[in-house]
Amino acid sequence: MNEHQIGIVGGGLAGLTAALALSRHGYDIAVFESVPYPHHKVCGEYLSNEILPYLDALDINLFAAGGKAITRFEISSIQGKKAECQLPLGGVGISRYAIDHLLYQTAKQRKVTFYFEKVSDIRFDGKGFTVVSRQRSVRASIVIGAYGKRSGLDKTLNRSFIQKKTDWLALKVHYTYPEFPDDLVALHNFKGGYGGLSNTESGHVNFCYLAQYKVFKEFKEVSAFNERIVSQNPHLRDFLRKAEPIFEDSLSIGQISFESKEPVVNHILMCGDTAGLIHPLCGNGMAMAIHSGKLVSECVHDFFNGRHKKRPDLEEAYKKSWNQNFKDRLRYGRIFQRLLLQPQLLHWGIATLAQSETWLQKMITKTHGKIVSS
Ligand SMILES: Cc1cc2nc3c(=O)[nH]c(=O)nc-3n(C[C@H](O)[C@H](O)[C@H](O)COP(=O)(O)OP(=O)(O)OC[C@H]3O[C@@H](n4cnc5c(N)ncnc54)[C@H](O)[C@@H]3O)c2cc1C
Repeated sequence: MNEHQIGIVGGGLAGLTAALALSRHGYDIAVFESVPYPHHKVCGEYLSNEILPYLDALDINLFAAGGKAITRFEISSIQGKKAECQLPLGGVGISRYAIDHLLYQTAKQRKVTFYFEKVSDIRFDGKGFTVVSRQRSVRASIVIGAYGKRSGLDKTLNRSFIQKKTDWLALKVHYTYPEFPDDLVALHNFKGGYGGLSNTESGHVNFCYLAQYKVFKEFKEVSAFNERIVSQNPHLRDFLRKAEPIFEDSLSIGQISFESKEPVVNHILMCGDTAGLIHPLCGNGMAMAIHSGKLVSECVHDFFNGRHKKRPDLEEAYKKSWNQNFKDRLRYGRIFQRLLLQPQLLHWGIATLAQSETWLQKMITKTHGKIVSS
């Protein structure tokens, strides 16, 4: 049986960041990822600048990879009423295809082992873990769970959020649409959902939306839903009429849960969406995933160098640091999401926000963190 000091299950932003951060201390790390890189993912692909100094410390430069500097935000109601502001911190428009691949290549150069296999079980026996895939079983002293929003593993681990049905699905397509400004991220509301538009490193505009299944299911086909529901918002109608899709089919995911989760389950340290998913309208999930990869790597390093004497000390320290950094953001995300799904209230709210950039900027600040450095 192979042995590694640290096993990371899931090689998205959280898992890859943890791998990169820990590799700086020379640990023997294995990442299990079920889908080989590069691959597209359903995501709005707007990354908050709060995390750039930390990425820099990991030798990751998103602008060198073609990322677009985003400085402006606009939001519209179904009727098309708009409010806009300069973003307090700003962000980067970059596809998951590009950013996940860049992190993977850097981790590989740093001698991180990759197994492109789906993990079906993670067992703890008091001393350490056995990570099980169809091809192998691997021993590790520490396991970091970074397998995203939802996985069969959540059932195996009997996590409570997985028992509850959710009403959310998400779709994404890249389009050619030369008129879309590089420096803008736009959030447009429609009945039962909302969608984000922003440019990516390839020059293609990402249109990604979240919709309630109860509204979507009446239409069954994406094209009909886009025409009848999404296009009720005049800004989205205009975009969909002029833009050319470059994907043959939309990428989609279902059963998206925004329920609270636990950062430590069966001694596994959870990070990224596996520990909690912020509502996408906040545009902060990617930064939080990277940030939580940093936090977990610091706690694990403290464990191996003796600062946390026992496993429960490590787990308590990680829980505390996760809650301190993310709990409030998730709460504000839930509040804003509720507002966004009440069309009349939103319309009125946007009309009010349109009068003052400062109010909108304050709302954005509530769902974002402070600058994260090394
Ligand atoms: C519709 C939508 C739009 C969004 N838009 C934005 C946005 O614009 N900006 C932003 O900051 N955030 C956004 N987010 C949130 C953001 O996408 C997530 O927070 C972020 O991807 C979390 O990264 P992660 O590493 O935790 O998970 P992921 O990126 O999902 O990575 C998890 C990885 O684990 C792998 N995996 C899963 N199960 C297993 C298994 N059993 N074995 C091995 N590997 C496994 C998966 O293949 C995947 O690569 C959006 C989310 C949604 C749903």
